[in-house]
Amino acid sequence: MNTLTFPLLRFLSDGCDHTCSDIGDSLGVPATRVSETLDELVSMGMKIDRETDDSCRLQTDIQWLDADEIAHHLGNKASAFQVEVVDHTASTNSDLMARAGQQGASGLVRVAELQTAGRGRRQRTWYSGIGDALTLSLLWVFGGDVAALSGLPLAVGVSLVRSLRALGVAEVSLKWPNDILLQQRKLGGVLIETTSRNAESVQVVIGIGLNLRLSRSVAQRIDQEAADLDTAGMRIGRNELFARLLVDLRAALEDYAREGFASFKDEWERMHAYQDKMVRLALADGTQTEGRVTGVDNDGALLLCVGARTHRFNSGELSLRPIQM
Ligand code: ATP
Repeated sequence: MNTLTFPLLRFLSDGCDHTCSDIGDSLGVPATRVSETLDELVSMGMKIDRETDDSCRLQTDIQWLDADEIAHHLGNKASAFQVEVVDHTASTNSDLMARAGQQGASGLVRVAELQTAGRGRRQRTWYSGIGDALTLSLLWVFGGDVAALSGLPLAVGVSLVRSLRALGVAEVSLKWPNDILLQQRKLGGVLIETTSRNAESVQVVIGIGLNLRLSRSVAQRIDQEAADLDTAGMRIGRNELFARLLVDLRAALEDYAREGFASFKDEWERMHAYQDKMVRLALADGTQTEGRVTGVDNDGALLLCVGARTHRFNSGELSLRPIQM
């Protein structure tokens, strides 16, 4: 990626044919640089038709994130958020974690067209293509002790499923502890990081990655079955979706601050794709255990019936997989 990548993509977003020399003239760079950047975009998975006469056309419709449009969709909730839209960054969570402590107020949101080093749990990579996802982080300040936040990733999942179902995506569900599924395939993930501000409050960075479209080049890099909202038929604009997720999330975070995870528990269990199902858990020490999911505890710990006993598991180092019966 270079400084021409995003200006070039924006230029091509009209969907018309352009020649490298025309683009170069308009953007004030040599045609050879345009051509090199186009090559690079193609290698990143962007669908760009290139003809021998040096003309090119962007085949993908990119709905650019737009701060004004987001504010419009936030309506009277806009003042509750300070939204920063950036073309690219390594990780929106890392950006806000670096700033947590300096900027204390709840509601700072950072959203990127492209994350170049998106992270999941345990530093695993979160992949996305330009304009194909919502990759965002929200800073929120909670009163009290960090221990009360163990169920927060699950509560955020409930909020996302509520939003998506309200938008007509019926087959969306959750996988403990932090995955959003669509027809049993991974549609999105939640990554929560905390930093204590003082004895009375905790700053939390809530990261969300959600696939709107999956290009083949991104899908090939993901080592499990993934899903996207476009294939599910969702047609709502990217800015509107972003705004709706934020508004619902804010309401959920306010509920969580008042009542904790207990008020989300029953709904979470109803949304869990593996409730009452046999699953395999990969444990931190490399071993595995199998059992039937009976639900989650009031703090978000997974309850697994193994033999005749129910065991509790905290999210730390675990990966849950279904057992095909
Ligand atoms: P698991 O998905 O195994 O339960 P996890 O919930 O801890 O583990 P995360 O760390 O939250 O997973 O997310 C990282 C993982 O998600 C990657 O290792 C990869 O398998 C998958 N992944 C990465 N990018 C995407 C994406 N765009 N869509 C769906 N899945 C992805």
